Amino acid sequence: MKGLADYTGPVLESCDVLIVGSGPGGGTLAWKLAQSGLSVTVVEAGSWVKTFEKDFGKTIASHFWDGGMRAVRGNVTFPTLQARALGGGSVFNSAICMRPTASALARWRADHGLADYTEEALAPHFDAVEAFFDIHPVADEVMGRRNELFRDACNTLGWSVEKVRRNERGCVGSAECILGCRNEAKLSLDRRGIKEFVEAGGRVLTHLQVDQLLIEKGVAKGIVGHVVDGRATPLHHARIHAKVVVVAAGAINTPAILRRSGLRDRSVGDNLRFHPSGYLVGIFDDRVYPWTGATQGYHSTQFLNQGIKLESLWATAPVFAQRFPLGVRQFKRLLKRYDRAAVWDTWVSAEDSVGRVGVIPGTNKLDIQYDVGRGDLRRLQEGNALLAELFAAAGAREVLTGIKGLPEVMDAAEAPRILREAKLLPSDLPCGSNHVMGGAVMGADPTKSVCDGWGAVHGTANLYLCDTSIFPTSPGVNPMLTAMALAHRLGEVLPGRV
Ligand SMILES: Cc1cc2nc3c(=O)[nH]c(=O)nc-3n(C[C@H](O)[C@H](O)[C@H](O)COP(=O)(O)OP(=O)(O)OC[C@H]3O[C@@H](n4cnc5c(N)ncnc54)[C@H](O)[C@@H]3O)c2cc1C
Repeated sequence: MKGLADYTGPVLESCDVLIVGSGPGGGTLAWKLAQSGLSVTVVEAGSWVKTFEKDFGKTIASHFWDGGMRAVRGNVTFPTLQARALGGGSVFNSAICMRPTASALARWRADHGLADYTEEALAPHFDAVEAFFDIHPVADEVMGRRNELFRDACNTLGWSVEKVRRNERGCVGSAECILGCRNEAKLSLDRRGIKEFVEAGGRVLTHLQVDQLLIEKGVAKGIVGHVVDGRATPLHHARIHAKVVVVAAGAINTPAILRRSGLRDRSVGDNLRFHPSGYLVGIFDDRVYPWTGATQGYHSTQFLNQGIKLESLWATAPVFAQRFPLGVRQFKRLLKRYDRAAVWDTWVSAEDSVGRVGVIPGTNKLDIQYDVGRGDLRRLQEGNALLAELFAAAGAREVLTGIKGLPEVMDAAEAPRILREAKLLPSDLPCGSNHVMGGAVMGADPTKSVCDGWGAVHGTANLYLCDTSIFPTSPGVNPMLTAMALAHRLGEVLPGRV
């Protein structure tokens, strides 16, 4: 790709707009600015990944922050994955694209003063992004049995079920989205967006990790950081000057960069949100061949207004091993019936739960705190029970929940009742979340928010934020598409502000 270089020497350059991070937020903004006539540079701490491993452990160790070991602590401890690669999370995610719910936007308007966040006003940005990234429903031919069973179970129970819409072209249903798409079908930002940006003359510097922003007298002037190798070892000091700096480093790293840059007031790091999730394994009598078919082909929005989403999912054997506290014998028994298993997940929009990103003083180390609220614990429990109902309706014989204190293997017909009646603590649930939002939230009131509705940081000139960190709360759906549409929206006005 012309102009795209893995830097190994010191960097010192100037540009009109410097974008920190190349994920759905930063990458979409870069694409939108490609034809603006501005000189735009994107810096990205990770590599441009061109070959993907089939090994989950190696993938997360190589291409995720903290070697894939990033965790949240509070009344639960759970893993959270953030990609460290050109294209950010879009390279390894399931590519599910959904517009925010009307009720989430209504809350953003009412509670955060974001008056122009209406479905109508945002629609042109969603339309543009959906067209450019070829977002469309999963094709029937690549669904596979695991997804079809989910659909059939929803139909049996009379619950809504929709084909997932994704940014891809030519998916062959190899069920390995989380490892990166070896078939080059996923239209992640490295393949779509950044490519067009570079072709139009934009610059991308990978392996450049920003440590902090240069801010002089309340005006952002650039960044300082390090050129790093593929294992994130700092090699050289780097300094880049820009007229406008846009931080798009993701919902955990963006507030961390702001805090390291001395912006510690104005709620920086507060209001961190996740979609805590759990999954169940169902074991069927007949073969499901779960390794075939789209990673996530169908989902149900039946319970979305209660803050609960249900999805079909696949996870590889090492992911099972990490998440289920089964004994070796039980795990071997499960692996023997691997071909008869299906994995479906649930996540909650978690309005009752909130966290905070802190930076341990004098270090680059993060302290990520998060407590699951009581309402969300109930919702997670109910989400698991609903999944068990789905498995029973699909004809599964057994389900495995991995929940502490409950039988490791349950009869599918019995499981919904057991799950609903269980007296659980948040730490009993094998939780995780890769949907991270907030930490540098937008709002009209500078005393309660970090930036305005365009991402312009209150009180610091020429500094913008453009990723899921600005979401005041969950958009009620999977977060990527909202980040892309808001980046497109910012890209429309930014040239007039440089
Ligand atoms: C396994 C997985 C599956 C998911 N599935 C879905 C899904 O199907 N649908 C959906 O909507 N969402 C999904 N998500 C979440 C989605 O990927 C994220 O919400 C989305 O990527 C967020 O975009 P972003 O631009 O805010 O941040 P990111 O994608 O995190 O991008 C930030 C970028 O900034 C870079 N960066 C960070 N710090 C620095 C620094 N100091 N210097 C330089 N660069 C830096 C990072 O390396 C990264 O490339 C999934 C996430 C994961 C991990």
